[in-house]
Amino acid sequence: MPNKHFDLVILGSGSTAFAAALRAQELGKTSVMTEERTTGGTCVNRGCLPSKNLIEAAKIIHDARHPRYPGLTPAELGLDFRTLIEQKDDVIHGYRKKKYESLTGGQFTIETGHVEFVDDHTVHVDGRRLTGDKILIATGSRPVIPDIDGLREVSYLTSDLLTSNEAMELRELPRSVIILGAGYIALELGQMFHRFGAEVMILQRSAQLLSHGYEPEVGQAINEVFEKEGIKVITNATARSVRQDGDQVVVTLQVGDESRALRAEKLLVATGRRPNSDRIAIEKAGVELGSKSQVCVDEYLRTNVPNILAGGDVIGSEVGSQMATPVGSQDGGIAAYNAFADGEPRRVNHRVIPRTIFTDPQIATVGMTEEEAISAGHKCWCNTVPMSLVPRAGAIRDTAGMIKMVADTNTEEVLGVSMVGNSAGEVIHEAAMGLRFGAKITDFIDLLHVYPTMAEALKIVAISRHKDPAKLSCCAE
Ligand SMILES: Cc1cc2nc3c(=O)[nH]c(=O)nc-3n(C[C@H](O)[C@H](O)[C@H](O)COP(=O)(O)OP(=O)(O)OC[C@H]3O[C@@H](n4cnc5c(N)ncnc54)[C@H](O)[C@@H]3O)c2cc1C
Repeated sequence: MPNKHFDLVILGSGSTAFAAALRAQELGKTSVMTEERTTGGTCVNRGCLPSKNLIEAAKIIHDARHPRYPGLTPAELGLDFRTLIEQKDDVIHGYRKKKYESLTGGQFTIETGHVEFVDDHTVHVDGRRLTGDKILIATGSRPVIPDIDGLREVSYLTSDLLTSNEAMELRELPRSVIILGAGYIALELGQMFHRFGAEVMILQRSAQLLSHGYEPEVGQAINEVFEKEGIKVITNATARSVRQDGDQVVVTLQVGDESRALRAEKLLVATGRRPNSDRIAIEKAGVELGSKSQVCVDEYLRTNVPNILAGGDVIGSEVGSQMATPVGSQDGGIAAYNAFADGEPRRVNHRVIPRTIFTDPQIATVGMTEEEAISAGHKCWCNTVPMSLVPRAGAIRDTAGMIKMVADTNTEEVLGVSMVGNSAGEVIHEAAMGLRFGAKITDFIDLLHVYPTMAEALKIVAISRHKDPAKLSCCAE
Protein backbone atom coordinates (compact mmCIF):
# COMPACT_ATOMS: atom_id res chain seq x y z
CA MET A 1 0.00 0.00 0.00
CA PRO A 2 1.43 3.47 -0.88
CA ASN A 3 2.41 5.54 2.10
CA LYS A 4 2.37 9.33 2.44
CA HIS A 5 4.61 10.76 5.10
CA PHE A 6 4.18 14.15 6.83
CA ASP A 7 5.80 16.01 9.66
CA LEU A 8 2.36 16.31 11.29
CA VAL A 9 -0.74 14.18 10.78
CA ILE A 10 -3.88 15.81 12.18
CA LEU A 11 -7.05 13.89 12.97
CA GLY A 12 -9.86 16.33 12.15
CA SER A 13 -10.17 19.53 10.10
CA GLY A 14 -11.89 21.91 12.52
CA SER A 15 -10.62 25.16 14.01
CA THR A 16 -8.14 23.28 16.21
CA ALA A 17 -6.74 21.36 13.22
CA PHE A 18 -6.46 24.44 11.00
CA ALA A 19 -4.67 26.46 13.66
CA ALA A 20 -2.20 23.60 14.08
CA ALA A 21 -1.64 23.19 10.32
CA LEU A 22 -1.02 26.92 9.92
CA ARG A 23 1.46 27.00 12.80
CA ALA A 24 3.23 23.92 11.43
CA GLN A 25 3.48 25.72 8.07
CA GLU A 26 5.00 28.78 9.77
CA LEU A 27 7.57 26.44 11.30
CA GLY A 28 8.39 25.01 7.85
CA LYS A 29 6.70 21.66 8.46
CA THR A 30 4.33 19.65 6.27
CA SER A 31 0.99 18.52 7.60
CA VAL A 32 -2.19 16.76 6.55
CA MET A 33 -5.67 17.07 8.04
CA THR A 34 -8.26 14.32 7.81
CA GLU A 35 -12.02 14.81 7.59
CA GLU A 36 -15.05 12.55 7.19
CA ARG A 37 -17.70 15.29 7.13
CA THR A 38 -17.20 18.88 5.94
CA THR A 39 -13.91 20.79 5.86
CA GLY A 40 -13.75 23.28 8.70
CA GLY A 41 -15.47 21.15 11.34
CA THR A 42 -18.26 22.13 13.71
CA CYS A 43 -17.85 25.87 14.23
CA VAL A 44 -18.11 27.08 10.66
CA ASN A 45 -20.47 24.41 9.32
CA ARG A 46 -22.92 23.55 12.10
CA GLY A 47 -21.97 25.48 15.25
CA CYS A 48 -21.02 29.08 15.94
CA LEU A 49 -21.51 30.66 12.55
CA PRO A 50 -24.85 29.25 11.38
CA SER A 51 -26.41 29.65 14.82
CA LYS A 52 -25.26 33.24 15.23
CA ASN A 53 -26.41 34.13 11.73
CA LEU A 54 -29.95 32.86 12.38
CA ILE A 55 -30.13 34.08 15.99
CA GLU A 56 -29.58 37.63 14.72
CA ALA A 57 -32.32 37.22 12.10
CA ALA A 58 -34.67 36.02 14.85
CA LYS A 59 -33.73 39.08 16.94
CA ILE A 60 -34.65 41.40 14.07
CA ILE A 61 -38.10 39.77 13.93
CA HIS A 62 -38.48 40.01 17.71
CA ASP A 63 -37.38 43.64 17.89
CA ALA A 64 -39.81 44.61 15.13
CA ARG A 65 -42.62 42.79 16.92
CA HIS A 66 -41.72 44.34 20.30
CA PRO A 67 -40.13 47.78 19.77
CA ARG A 68 -38.71 49.05 23.06
CA TYR A 69 -39.67 52.66 22.35
CA PRO A 70 -43.13 54.17 22.71
CA GLY A 71 -43.81 55.85 19.38
CA LEU A 72 -42.54 52.93 17.34
CA THR A 73 -45.33 50.78 16.00
CA PRO A 74 -44.91 47.01 16.31
CA ALA A 75 -44.50 45.34 12.94
CA GLU A 76 -44.76 41.74 11.84
CA LEU A 77 -41.93 40.95 9.42
CA GLY A 78 -42.67 38.30 6.83
CA LEU A 79 -40.62 35.13 7.24
CA ASP A 80 -39.51 32.98 4.31
CA PHE A 81 -37.65 30.30 6.26
CA ARG A 82 -36.21 28.52 3.23
CA THR A 83 -34.66 31.73 1.88
CA LEU A 84 -33.33 32.51 5.33
CA ILE A 85 -31.67 29.08 5.45
CA GLU A 86 -30.26 29.60 1.95
CA GLN A 87 -28.68 32.94 2.89
CA LYS A 88 -27.20 31.23 5.98
CA ASP A 89 -25.71 28.58 3.72
CA ASP A 90 -24.29 31.30 1.43
CA VAL A 91 -22.64 33.02 4.39
CA ILE A 92 -21.19 29.71 5.57
CA HIS A 93 -19.96 28.67 2.14
CA GLY A 94 -18.25 32.05 1.66
CA TYR A 95 -16.66 31.95 5.07
CA ARG A 96 -15.60 28.32 4.73
CA LYS A 97 -13.98 29.04 1.38
CA LYS A 98 -12.15 32.16 2.61
CA LYS A 99 -11.09 31.00 6.04
CA TYR A 100 -10.61 27.26 5.56
CA GLU A 101 -10.65 25.70 2.08
CA SER A 102 -8.58 28.38 0.34
CA LEU A 103 -5.81 28.04 2.92
CA THR A 104 -5.06 24.43 2.05
CA GLY A 105 -2.67 23.25 -0.64
CA GLY A 106 1.10 23.50 -0.66
CA GLN A 107 2.42 22.60 2.72
CA PHE A 108 -0.84 21.35 4.16
CA THR A 109 -3.59 19.30 2.59
CA ILE A 110 -6.73 17.41 3.55
CA GLU A 111 -7.44 13.70 3.14
CA THR A 112 -11.16 13.01 3.05
CA GLY A 113 -12.56 9.95 4.78
CA HIS A 114 -12.79 8.22 8.14
CA VAL A 115 -9.51 8.24 10.06
CA GLU A 116 -8.30 5.58 12.50
CA PHE A 117 -5.00 4.85 14.19
CA VAL A 118 -2.95 1.88 13.05
CA ASP A 119 -0.12 2.56 15.48
CA ASP A 120 1.39 5.60 17.20
CA HIS A 121 2.86 6.98 13.95
CA THR A 122 0.33 5.68 11.42
CA VAL A 123 -3.32 6.28 10.55
CA HIS A 124 -5.59 4.96 7.84
CA VAL A 125 -8.06 7.26 6.07
CA ASP A 126 -10.62 4.98 4.45
CA GLY A 127 -7.78 2.50 4.12
CA ARG A 128 -5.19 5.02 2.79
CA ARG A 129 -2.03 4.98 4.90
CA LEU A 130 -0.54 8.19 6.30
CA THR A 131 2.43 8.39 8.63
CA GLY A 132 3.63 11.31 10.70
CA ASP A 133 6.57 12.19 12.91
CA LYS A 134 3.99 13.83 15.16
CA ILE A 135 0.25 13.31 15.41
CA LEU A 136 -2.41 15.73 16.69
CA ILE A 137 -5.82 14.44 17.75
CA ALA A 138 -8.38 17.17 17.02
CA THR A 139 -11.52 15.18 16.32
CA GLY A 140 -13.82 17.50 18.27
CA SER A 141 -17.03 16.44 19.97
CA ARG A 142 -20.56 15.38 19.11
CA PRO A 143 -23.99 15.55 20.78
CA VAL A 144 -24.63 13.15 23.64
CA ILE A 145 -27.74 11.08 22.96
CA PRO A 146 -29.27 10.10 26.31
CA ASP A 147 -30.59 6.63 26.96
CA ILE A 148 -34.33 7.37 26.95
CA ASP A 149 -36.86 4.69 26.19
CA GLY A 150 -37.99 4.95 22.54
CA LEU A 151 -35.62 7.79 21.59
CA ARG A 152 -33.74 5.77 19.03
CA GLU A 153 -36.98 4.85 17.25
CA VAL A 154 -38.17 8.43 16.61
CA SER A 155 -36.62 11.04 14.37
CA TYR A 156 -35.01 13.82 16.36
CA LEU A 157 -32.83 16.84 15.74
CA THR A 158 -29.51 17.60 17.37
CA SER A 159 -27.48 20.80 17.36
CA ASP A 160 -26.40 19.65 13.88
CA LEU A 161 -29.74 20.90 12.55
CA LEU A 162 -28.09 24.11 11.37
CA THR A 163 -25.52 22.31 9.27
CA SER A 164 -25.12 22.97 5.56
CA ASN A 165 -24.34 20.49 2.80
CA GLU A 166 -25.35 17.63 5.06
CA ALA A 167 -28.49 15.54 5.23
CA MET A 168 -29.74 16.62 8.65
CA GLU A 169 -30.21 20.29 7.81
CA LEU A 170 -33.58 21.72 8.84
CA ARG A 171 -35.27 23.48 5.91
CA GLU A 172 -38.82 23.95 7.21
CA LEU A 173 -39.66 25.86 10.37
CA PRO A 174 -41.33 23.42 12.79
CA ARG A 175 -44.59 24.60 14.35
CA SER A 176 -43.48 23.28 17.74
CA VAL A 177 -40.24 22.00 19.28
CA ILE A 178 -39.54 20.14 22.52
CA ILE A 179 -35.93 20.66 23.61
CA LEU A 180 -34.31 18.09 25.88
CA GLY A 181 -31.63 19.84 27.90
CA ALA A 182 -31.10 23.44 28.92
CA GLY A 183 -27.44 24.20 28.27
CA TYR A 184 -26.20 26.98 26.01
CA ILE A 185 -27.25 25.31 22.76
CA ALA A 186 -30.78 24.67 24.08
CA LEU A 187 -31.15 28.27 25.26
CA GLU A 188 -29.77 29.86 22.10
CA LEU A 189 -31.74 27.68 19.68
CA GLY A 190 -34.85 27.64 21.90
CA GLN A 191 -35.12 31.43 21.91
CA MET A 192 -34.33 31.52 18.19
CA PHE A 193 -37.12 29.05 17.29
CA HIS A 194 -39.57 30.87 19.55
CA ARG A 195 -38.80 34.17 17.86
CA PHE A 196 -39.27 32.61 14.43
CA GLY A 197 -42.75 31.64 15.60
CA ALA A 198 -42.44 28.04 16.83
CA GLU A 199 -43.91 26.94 20.15
CA VAL A 200 -40.89 25.99 22.27
CA MET A 201 -40.80 23.80 25.38
CA ILE A 202 -37.43 23.43 27.13
CA LEU A 203 -37.13 20.49 29.52
CA GLN A 204 -34.62 20.99 32.27
CA ARG A 205 -33.65 18.39 34.87
CA SER A 206 -32.74 20.77 37.70
CA ALA A 207 -34.80 23.43 39.46
CA GLN A 208 -33.24 26.39 37.66
CA LEU A 209 -31.71 27.25 34.30
CA LEU A 210 -27.90 27.10 34.10
CA SER A 211 -27.63 25.62 37.57
CA HIS A 212 -24.11 24.23 37.06
CA GLY A 213 -21.05 26.44 36.60
CA TYR A 214 -23.00 29.71 36.59
CA GLU A 215 -23.97 32.16 39.31
CA PRO A 216 -27.55 31.52 40.51
CA GLU A 217 -28.35 35.15 39.61
CA VAL A 218 -27.57 34.37 35.96
CA GLY A 219 -30.12 31.55 35.81
CA GLN A 220 -32.73 33.72 37.54
CA ALA A 221 -32.15 36.64 35.17
CA ILE A 222 -32.41 34.57 31.99
CA ASN A 223 -35.39 32.68 33.37
CA GLU A 224 -37.22 36.00 33.86
CA VAL A 225 -36.41 37.00 30.29
CA PHE A 226 -37.61 33.68 28.88
CA GLU A 227 -40.80 33.79 30.98
CA LYS A 228 -41.59 37.32 29.85
CA GLU A 229 -41.03 36.30 26.25
CA GLY A 230 -43.32 33.28 26.58
CA ILE A 231 -40.71 30.55 26.18
CA LYS A 232 -41.87 27.58 28.20
CA VAL A 233 -39.19 26.19 30.53
CA ILE A 234 -40.24 23.09 32.48
CA THR A 235 -37.88 22.59 35.42
CA ASN A 236 -37.34 19.44 37.52
CA ALA A 237 -38.35 17.50 34.42
CA THR A 238 -36.98 14.07 33.54
CA ALA A 239 -37.90 12.60 30.16
CA ARG A 240 -38.97 8.97 30.66
CA SER A 241 -39.96 7.89 27.17
CA VAL A 242 -40.41 9.15 23.66
CA ARG A 243 -42.67 7.91 20.88
CA GLN A 244 -43.82 8.96 17.43
CA ASP A 245 -47.55 9.64 17.02
CA GLY A 246 -48.29 10.44 13.38
CA ASP A 247 -46.34 13.56 12.51
CA GLN A 248 -45.73 14.42 16.16
CA VAL A 249 -43.29 13.29 18.80
CA VAL A 250 -44.70 12.58 22.25
CA VAL A 251 -42.42 12.91 25.27
CA THR A 252 -43.53 11.46 28.59
CA LEU A 253 -41.85 13.19 31.47
CA GLN A 254 -41.73 13.12 35.21
CA VAL A 255 -42.10 16.54 36.84
CA GLY A 256 -41.73 16.05 40.56
CA ASP A 257 -44.33 13.36 41.43
CA GLU A 258 -46.41 14.03 38.38
CA SER A 259 -46.21 12.26 35.02
CA ARG A 260 -46.99 14.43 31.98
CA ALA A 261 -46.98 14.06 28.22
CA LEU A 262 -45.91 16.78 25.82
CA ARG A 263 -46.19 16.66 22.06
CA ALA A 264 -44.52 18.64 19.32
CA GLU A 265 -43.64 18.44 15.67
CA LYS A 266 -39.92 18.19 16.40
CA LEU A 267 -37.73 16.99 19.22
CA LEU A 268 -34.33 18.61 19.65
CA VAL A 269 -31.84 16.67 21.77
CA ALA A 270 -29.40 19.14 23.35
CA THR A 271 -28.17 17.25 26.40
CA GLY A 272 -24.48 18.07 26.07
CA ARG A 273 -21.51 17.03 23.96
CA ARG A 274 -18.90 14.29 24.32
CA PRO A 275 -15.39 14.04 22.88
CA ASN A 276 -14.97 12.13 19.59
CA SER A 277 -12.34 9.79 20.98
CA ASP A 278 -14.12 6.50 20.45
CA ARG A 279 -14.16 5.90 16.68
CA ILE A 280 -10.47 6.38 15.96
CA ALA A 281 -9.02 3.09 17.27
CA ILE A 282 -7.15 5.17 19.82
CA GLU A 283 -6.12 2.02 21.74
CA LYS A 284 -3.84 1.06 18.82
CA ALA A 285 -1.78 4.18 19.53
CA GLY A 286 -1.87 3.56 23.29
CA VAL A 287 -3.31 7.00 24.10
CA GLU A 288 -5.01 7.29 27.50
CA LEU A 289 -8.59 8.48 27.87
CA GLY A 290 -10.18 10.04 30.95
CA SER A 291 -13.43 9.17 32.71
CA LYS A 292 -15.47 11.38 30.37
CA SER A 293 -13.86 9.89 27.24
CA GLN A 294 -11.65 12.94 26.86
CA VAL A 295 -8.11 12.51 25.54
CA CYS A 296 -5.89 13.13 28.57
CA VAL A 297 -3.21 15.79 28.05
CA ASP A 298 -0.75 17.68 30.19
CA GLU A 299 -0.40 21.47 30.22
CA TYR A 300 1.66 21.27 27.01
CA LEU A 301 -1.16 19.33 25.30
CA ARG A 302 0.98 16.18 25.22
CA THR A 303 -0.73 12.83 25.64
CA ASN A 304 0.95 9.90 27.40
CA VAL A 305 2.44 8.89 24.00
CA PRO A 306 5.48 11.10 23.34
CA ASN A 307 4.79 12.01 19.67
CA ILE A 308 0.99 12.42 20.04
CA LEU A 309 -0.70 15.65 21.13
CA ALA A 310 -4.36 16.63 21.41
CA GLY A 311 -6.41 19.82 21.62
CA GLY A 312 -9.84 21.41 21.20
CA ASP A 313 -13.14 19.76 22.10
CA VAL A 314 -11.61 16.28 22.21
CA ILE A 315 -9.72 17.10 25.43
CA GLY A 316 -13.06 17.95 27.07
CA SER A 317 -13.23 20.37 29.95
CA GLU A 318 -11.35 18.37 32.55
CA VAL A 319 -8.13 20.42 32.50
CA GLY A 320 -9.95 23.71 33.02
CA SER A 321 -10.56 23.88 29.28
CA GLN A 322 -13.86 24.72 27.58
CA MET A 323 -15.38 23.33 24.42
CA ALA A 324 -15.21 26.54 22.40
CA THR A 325 -13.64 27.57 19.12
CA PRO A 326 -11.06 30.11 20.34
CA VAL A 327 -9.87 27.63 22.96
CA GLY A 328 -9.38 24.97 20.27
CA SER A 329 -7.64 27.41 17.95
CA GLN A 330 -5.23 28.43 20.66
CA ASP A 331 -4.69 24.78 21.58
CA GLY A 332 -3.95 23.89 17.93
CA GLY A 333 -1.28 26.57 17.59
CA ILE A 334 0.34 25.63 20.89
CA ALA A 335 0.28 21.90 20.10
CA ALA A 336 1.99 22.42 16.73
CA TYR A 337 4.53 24.74 18.33
CA ASN A 338 5.28 22.21 21.04
CA ALA A 339 5.56 19.45 18.47
CA PHE A 340 8.31 21.19 16.48
CA ALA A 341 9.78 24.36 17.99
CA ASP A 342 13.28 24.15 19.42
CA GLY A 343 12.67 26.53 22.32
CA GLU A 344 10.84 26.08 25.62
CA PRO A 345 7.47 24.37 25.12
CA ARG A 346 4.39 26.59 25.54
CA ARG A 347 1.89 25.91 28.30
CA VAL A 348 -1.83 26.27 27.65
CA ASN A 349 -3.44 28.86 29.84
CA HIS A 350 -7.00 27.85 30.50
CA ARG A 351 -7.24 30.10 33.57
CA VAL A 352 -9.02 32.97 31.83
CA ILE A 353 -11.60 31.84 29.28
CA PRO A 354 -14.37 34.35 28.61
CA ARG A 355 -17.61 32.65 27.56
CA THR A 356 -20.82 33.90 26.03
CA ILE A 357 -24.24 32.40 25.51
CA PHE A 358 -25.82 34.22 22.60
CA THR A 359 -29.29 34.58 24.04
CA ASP A 360 -30.86 38.02 24.04
CA PRO A 361 -29.74 39.51 26.36
CA GLN A 362 -26.38 37.79 26.15
CA ILE A 363 -24.94 35.86 29.08
CA ALA A 364 -21.20 36.32 29.50
CA THR A 365 -18.88 35.03 32.18
CA VAL A 366 -15.22 34.86 33.02
CA GLY A 367 -13.29 33.45 35.95
CA MET A 368 -14.79 31.99 39.08
CA THR A 369 -18.30 32.05 40.48
CA GLU A 370 -18.76 32.97 44.13
CA GLU A 371 -19.12 29.29 45.02
CA GLU A 372 -15.98 28.33 43.11
CA ALA A 373 -13.97 31.13 44.72
CA ILE A 374 -15.06 30.04 48.21
CA SER A 375 -14.23 26.39 47.46
CA ALA A 376 -10.82 27.53 46.23
CA GLY A 377 -10.21 29.00 49.70
CA HIS A 378 -10.85 32.70 49.01
CA LYS A 379 -12.62 34.95 51.44
CA CYS A 380 -14.96 36.64 49.03
CA TRP A 381 -16.47 39.99 48.41
CA CYS A 382 -19.11 39.86 45.75
CA ASN A 383 -22.03 41.97 44.67
CA THR A 384 -24.73 41.98 42.04
CA VAL A 385 -26.02 45.14 40.39
CA PRO A 386 -29.06 45.27 38.10
CA MET A 387 -28.59 46.48 34.52
CA SER A 388 -31.10 49.24 35.26
CA LEU A 389 -28.25 51.09 37.05
CA VAL A 390 -26.17 51.20 33.87
CA PRO A 391 -26.88 54.54 32.13
CA ARG A 392 -26.71 53.11 28.60
CA ALA A 393 -29.15 50.33 29.46
CA GLY A 394 -31.61 52.95 30.71
CA ALA A 395 -31.00 55.27 27.76
CA ILE A 396 -31.74 52.58 25.20
CA ARG A 397 -34.61 51.10 27.25
CA ASP A 398 -32.92 47.70 27.52
CA THR A 399 -32.53 47.11 31.23
CA ALA A 400 -32.92 43.33 31.50
CA GLY A 401 -30.13 41.54 33.34
CA MET A 402 -27.48 42.02 35.98
CA ILE A 403 -23.75 42.00 36.59
CA LYS A 404 -21.99 40.23 39.44
CA MET A 405 -18.37 40.68 40.45
CA VAL A 406 -16.46 38.26 42.70
CA ALA A 407 -13.23 39.42 44.36
CA ASP A 408 -10.89 38.29 47.11
CA THR A 409 -11.67 40.38 50.21
CA ASN A 410 -8.06 40.53 51.36
CA THR A 411 -6.24 41.26 48.11
CA GLU A 412 -9.19 42.91 46.30
CA GLU A 413 -8.17 40.97 43.18
CA VAL A 414 -11.14 40.36 40.90
CA LEU A 415 -11.69 36.62 40.47
CA GLY A 416 -14.78 36.46 38.32
CA VAL A 417 -17.50 38.40 36.52
CA SER A 418 -20.88 37.26 35.27
CA MET A 419 -23.15 39.50 33.23
CA VAL A 420 -26.55 39.12 31.65
CA GLY A 421 -27.27 42.14 29.50
CA ASN A 422 -27.12 43.89 26.18
CA SER A 423 -23.65 43.37 24.60
CA ALA A 424 -22.45 41.27 27.56
CA GLY A 425 -20.35 39.20 25.12
CA GLU A 426 -18.38 42.35 24.22
CA VAL A 427 -18.15 43.77 27.75
CA ILE A 428 -16.74 40.54 29.17
CA HIS A 429 -13.44 41.09 27.34
CA GLU A 430 -12.54 44.01 29.59
CA ALA A 431 -13.13 41.77 32.60
CA ALA A 432 -11.10 38.97 30.99
CA MET A 433 -8.16 41.30 30.36
CA GLY A 434 -8.45 42.45 33.96
CA LEU A 435 -8.33 38.88 35.25
CA ARG A 436 -5.40 38.08 32.98
CA PHE A 437 -3.33 40.81 34.58
CA GLY A 438 -4.57 40.36 38.15
CA ALA A 439 -6.67 43.57 38.19
CA LYS A 440 -8.11 44.72 41.49
CA ILE A 441 -11.54 46.20 42.13
CA THR A 442 -10.06 49.68 42.08
CA ASP A 443 -8.59 49.15 38.58
CA PHE A 444 -12.13 48.80 37.21
CA ILE A 445 -13.12 51.97 39.10
CA ASP A 446 -10.10 54.03 38.07
CA LEU A 447 -10.27 53.12 34.39
CA LEU A 448 -12.15 55.83 32.53
CA HIS A 449 -15.02 54.22 30.67
CA VAL A 450 -16.71 55.71 27.65
CA TYR A 451 -20.09 57.13 28.65
CA PRO A 452 -22.69 55.79 28.06
CA THR A 453 -21.59 52.24 27.29
CA MET A 454 -22.56 48.82 28.57
CA ALA A 455 -18.93 48.34 29.68
CA GLU A 456 -19.64 50.86 32.45
CA ALA A 457 -21.47 47.97 34.12
CA LEU A 458 -18.04 46.76 35.26
CA LYS A 459 -17.13 50.10 36.76
CA ILE A 460 -20.51 50.40 38.49
CA VAL A 461 -20.39 46.93 40.07
CA ALA A 462 -16.82 47.66 41.21
CA ILE A 463 -17.95 50.96 42.77
CA SER A 464 -20.58 49.02 44.71
CA ARG A 465 -17.67 47.72 46.82
CA HIS A 466 -17.59 51.13 48.52
CA LYS A 467 -20.91 52.87 47.96
CA ASP A 468 -24.43 52.50 46.71
CA PRO A 469 -24.23 52.83 42.92
CA ALA A 470 -27.92 53.79 42.83
CA LYS A 471 -26.93 57.13 44.39
CA LEU A 472 -24.33 58.19 41.81
CA SER A 473 -24.76 60.90 39.20
CA CYS A 474 -23.72 60.17 35.63
CA CYS A 475 -20.13 58.89 35.62
CA ALA A 476 -19.21 59.92 39.17
CA GLU A 477 -16.98 57.49 41.00
C1 LIG B 1 -24.80 24.71 17.82
C2 LIG B 1 -23.41 25.06 18.29
C3 LIG B 1 -23.09 26.38 18.51
C4 LIG B 1 -21.81 26.72 18.92
N1 LIG B 1 -21.54 28.04 19.12
C5 LIG B 1 -20.30 28.40 19.50
C6 LIG B 1 -19.97 29.78 19.64
O1 LIG B 1 -20.80 30.66 19.42
N2 LIG B 1 -18.71 30.10 20.01
C7 LIG B 1 -17.76 29.14 20.26
O2 LIG B 1 -16.62 29.49 20.59
N3 LIG B 1 -18.04 27.83 20.14
C8 LIG B 1 -19.29 27.44 19.76
N4 LIG B 1 -19.57 26.11 19.59
C9 LIG B 1 -18.52 25.12 19.90
C10 LIG B 1 -17.51 25.02 18.77
O3 LIG B 1 -18.18 24.79 17.56
C11 LIG B 1 -16.49 23.91 19.05
O4 LIG B 1 -15.93 24.14 20.32
C12 LIG B 1 -15.37 23.89 18.02
O5 LIG B 1 -15.89 23.82 16.73
C13 LIG B 1 -14.42 22.71 18.29
O6 LIG B 1 -13.42 22.69 17.32
P1 LIG B 1 -12.52 21.39 17.13
O7 LIG B 1 -11.58 21.72 16.01
O8 LIG B 1 -11.95 20.95 18.41
O9 LIG B 1 -13.52 20.25 16.65
P2 LIG B 1 -14.49 20.21 15.34
O10 LIG B 1 -14.68 21.56 14.76
O11 LIG B 1 -15.68 19.45 15.75
O12 LIG B 1 -13.63 19.40 14.31
C14 LIG B 1 -13.41 18.04 14.42
C15 LIG B 1 -13.62 17.41 13.07
O13 LIG B 1 -13.10 16.07 13.11
C16 LIG B 1 -13.90 15.27 12.30
N5 LIG B 1 -13.78 13.88 12.73
C17 LIG B 1 -14.07 13.36 13.93
N6 LIG B 1 -13.78 12.03 13.96
C18 LIG B 1 -13.31 11.72 12.73
C19 LIG B 1 -12.85 10.52 12.13
N7 LIG B 1 -12.77 9.38 12.82
N8 LIG B 1 -12.45 10.57 10.85
C20 LIG B 1 -12.47 11.73 10.14
N9 LIG B 1 -12.89 12.89 10.67
C21 LIG B 1 -13.30 12.89 11.94
C22 LIG B 1 -15.31 15.79 12.52
O14 LIG B 1 -16.13 15.48 11.42
C23 LIG B 1 -15.08 17.28 12.67
O15 LIG B 1 -15.31 17.97 11.46
C24 LIG B 1 -20.83 25.72 19.14
C25 LIG B 1 -21.14 24.39 18.91
C26 LIG B 1 -22.41 24.06 18.49
C27 LIG B 1 -22.72 22.61 18.22
